[in-house]
Amino acid sequence: MTPVCPFVKAARPDEASLKNNSDSQTKHQSGQEVKAKQESGESATVSPKCPFGYDSETFKLGPFSCMVCQALLYESSKCVPCSHVYCKACISRFKDCPLCGADIEKIEPDTNLQNVVDRFIEGHARIKRSQMDKDQQKAVGEKKTVIYEDVSLERGAFLVQQAMRAFRAQNIESAKSRLSICAEDIREQLERMGTTSELCSQLGAVLGMLGDCCRALGDASSAITYFEESVNFLKKAPTDDLEIIHTLSVSLNKVGDLKYYDEDLQGARSYYFQSLNVRRDAIKNHPSSSSQILDVTVSLAKVADVDRNLGNEDVAVDEFQEAIKLLDRLTLKPEEVGLEQRRLSVLEFLKNQLSEKQPDSNP
Ligand SMILES: [Zn+2]
Ligand SMILES: [Zn+2]
Repeated sequence: MTPVCPFVKAARPDEASLKNNSDSQTKHQSGQEVKAKQESGESATVSPKCPFGYDSETFKLGPFSCMVCQALLYESSKCVPCSHVYCKACISRFKDCPLCGADIEKIEPDTNLQNVVDRFIEGHARIKRSQMDKDQQKAVGEKKTVIYEDVSLERGAFLVQQAMRAFRAQNIESAKSRLSICAEDIREQLERMGTTSELCSQLGAVLGMLGDCCRALGDASSAITYFEESVNFLKKAPTDDLEIIHTLSVSLNKVGDLKYYDEDLQGARSYYFQSLNVRRDAIKNHPSSSSQILDVTVSLAKVADVDRNLGNEDVAVDEFQEAIKLLDRLTLKPEEVGLEQRRLSVLEFLKNQLSEKQPDSNP
């Protein structure tokens, strides 16, 4: 799943004025809360103002959280006899309760608690809509309104954050459910506000994550539908934004991969090739972006691999060689250690591809 939250750019207008209001958070923390590990990439996107502490900077596991996946409960299930509650998918992997160690005799659904959790999530929506038309500047002065407004503005980021936690913990259904609400929200906004490039890029990213969920669940055809829809929305977003270009090209490659596994080589090539073109265009506009050049070489390798499997050996060799040339010419700064490692591993892969086929071409 994309590690970058699509709401990372949705800057909050009043961020600075709210930053030092730490008082309101501590009041709402309960004793059983556990410090969660900081997750890079999310900390900048979610504000620390949720009255329940559901944010990444000061994230605490509250009564609505599952201790296994560290996200909001999904299909809340109570262990018998100890009564500890987890998501159904999370606890089903355990024989003993992870909190108290008691033998789990059986697991019962806790619909009452799940209803409260669902209302909490829905509450974010209501707050958002009621605040939408009000004068935001005016509201900053009053503490209670500030808290609510803050939650409302971050609902998308909040849902994505919950989804990413659940996804990492392999609770894919939970992730899918949160992302579906998020996608619904953005679609509704698109209808109300018209097509803006920000909404398109957000929806494109969320749909891509939904595709990842379907893929993880083994539902390739739904995954392809989501990735294709993701591509369509990302294409409406600004073409000079490198992050959007990357997400777009990755979505195209993911469709290509799924077609490839399905042995639809022509289909796979068509998507890999579209991705390659998106990345090539990006280099034209950003000739100095090393990671974009690396992306192009990875795309070339994918296209070449399909071409080889389709029996177009000469075309494939040209593409492998073009990628090698690009990587040989690529000079990275000493501090770009990660990129250099990637460059060397792609280069090694490409050279292996060329030497591998040598016996065939010289019979
Ligand atoms: Zn869970
Ligand atoms: Zn227990």
